[in-house]
Amino acid sequence: MKACSYCKNTIVLGGKKVGKRLYCGENCRHAAVDVLGLDAIPEDLVNDLASSIHKGSCPKCGGDGPVDIHESYRVASAFLFSFFNTKTEVCCRKCSFKNSFWDFIYTFTLGWWGFPIGVILTPILLLRNMIGMLQLPKEDEYSNALHEKACFDLANARLEKHGAAHASAATVSEVRSPQRGDKLELST
Ligand SMILES: [Zn+2]
Ligand SMILES: [Zn+2]
Repeated sequence: MKACSYCKNTIVLGGKKVGKRLYCGENCRHAAVDVLGLDAIPEDLVNDLASSIHKGSCPKCGGDGPVDIHESYRVASAFLFSFFNTKTEVCCRKCSFKNSFWDFIYTFTLGWWGFPIGVILTPILLLRNMIGMLQLPKEDEYSNALHEKACFDLANARLEKHGAAHASAATVSEVRSPQRGDKLELST
């Protein structure tokens, strides 16, 4: 199933394609392309950052790489209520395995006790956690998800820097404008 490149929600039908990314609608396209400027981040900068995260030490335990994005899944149910959650973490092989293992135990113990979601979802998530215990960060290459994360990080950092530049420009015009009575605007 396809997911929106910005909000990560599942796209059942349609979506807006811009370059290699797909968005669920105009709001996400606008936020990603016009505001964040994802497409304007140079590919080699993204590759450099992704590769340094991949080869770096684990942000969770401080241990050696390879480091990548890893997902694990859990569900707990009681009668008609079910709570499920996907945990996404940037971490090493050891931490990835532990996340999937403990979410497997959690789901195996607490998942079954609700109907219908608990009964249906529990075996699916147990299987996905079993696959997760085998699909650990690779030594020779990083995932597409890590590449995307690096791109978002760079775009966010650039946006923050621009925001700061705007704010300081506004401070300057605040100092100058009172005697002229100009209206202050943050957008220039
Ligand atoms: Zn979206
Ligand atoms: Zn770790």
